[in-house]
Amino acid sequence: MTGLSSRALTYRYIVALGLIAVCTVFSHLILGRVLREDDGSAAVAAMSTRQIVLSERIAQMADEYADGSAQAHAVLHASLVRFEKEYRILSRDEGESSFIAYGKPRALALYRDGLGQNIERFIGLAQRIDGGVPGDPQFAESLRALRALARKRLPDGLEAVASVHVRAGEVHLQRMEILQHIILGVVLLVLLFEALGIFRPMIRRIVRYARQLQDLATRDVLTGLCNRREFQARVAAVRDAPVSTTEVAVLMLDVDHFKSINDRYGHAVGDVVLTRLGAHLHGVLRSGDIAGRIGGEEFALALPATTRDGAVKMAERLRKEVAAMAAPDEAPDLHVTVSIGVAALGPGAAPTLDEALRRADEALYRAKRNGRNRVESAEETSSPAPALADG
Ligand code: GH3
Ligand code: MG
Ligand code: MG
Repeated sequence: MTGLSSRALTYRYIVALGLIAVCTVFSHLILGRVLREDDGSAAVAAMSTRQIVLSERIAQMADEYADGSAQAHAVLHASLVRFEKEYRILSRDEGESSFIAYGKPRALALYRDGLGQNIERFIGLAQRIDGGVPGDPQFAESLRALRALARKRLPDGLEAVASVHVRAGEVHLQRMEILQHIILGVVLLVLLFEALGIFRPMIRRIVRYARQLQDLATRDVLTGLCNRREFQARVAAVRDAPVSTTEVAVLMLDVDHFKSINDRYGHAVGDVVLTRLGAHLHGVLRSGDIAGRIGGEEFALALPATTRDGAVKMAERLRKEVAAMAAPDEAPDLHVTVSIGVAALGPGAAPTLDEALRRADEALYRAKRNGRNRVESAEETSSPAPALADG
């Protein structure tokens, strides 16, 4: 996942956003349609169910009207008008109807398949009763025929139509639900893709850049050791750690006559010397020790929990190791030596890191003055600083 360019990441991001936008619009449209259709569908289902109730009421009111009830006549008339009007709406075979009715083709088929004829007959009979006079022989005949129709065939047919509408509405809703789930799934997949295909590589890249920046800010490029600022920060952290009560030894190390190495063998060889010296320092350090390149050919070491005497011994060993290092291939007769100044930081010694570095620097310059390729120690208080130079 390293090869993704910023452009590729941006394209991915745009595509993912586009997909989510499309899904959102799509699901908005579907929801709107479902709401609209649901309204229409519910109205049709209610209407078709009401046909059953109205037909029953018409038959009942016709009976009561036959017994002379004027009120029943009025109810009969109103129910009949409504029944017929809604039947015309339900059975209208046109695409331009103002409502959406699920299962309309099947309902129309039922109407065509005899039910329509029965309803028309029922309406005709009810109209004759509505306009007729109770007691009239024709009235009685219409009433008988109406009763017969209303007993079985008509309610069965009307119930069939109502259940077709209700059932078709349910099926349609189920389909819409499935579609909603699909859209949700797509959105979740896109989000997963965003997380894995965009954000993960992006975060990795950011972390990589942050590490590089951190390295650039804290490491010396040539030797890989700490730079001056990082060295100071790390030593301060060791000194301020709650457990650290013992001394921290500080060593300042400077290559002898480095300028003439550069002058004689070239700057590149000078760099090789610095690199090898850095690698050597890195190799001899214990895990808690801190090494930094704090100037051109100047290095500093901090050795926690080390006394000044211990540090002097270590510096002496280091000095000898450097003097014994093999010459680089580019300069077979090159002989590199270093001078080292040692000081201590902590109780009974230098109170601050700056002070310890200053004292180590002083000791270093004493080593230079005294002939180079030497170790000198600050503060001649606890033990006499031995003249450690040897040939
Ligand atoms: P002394 O023994 O007194 O320390 O003498 P010196 O020549 O080592 O000291 P001086 O300070 O006169 O010279 C240090 C030289 O180190 C001068 C500078 O050009 C060189 N230098 C500093 N940084 C680098 C670097 O990164 N690479 C190389 N090749 N040379 C460097
Ligand atoms: Mg030097
Ligand atoms: Mg120097």
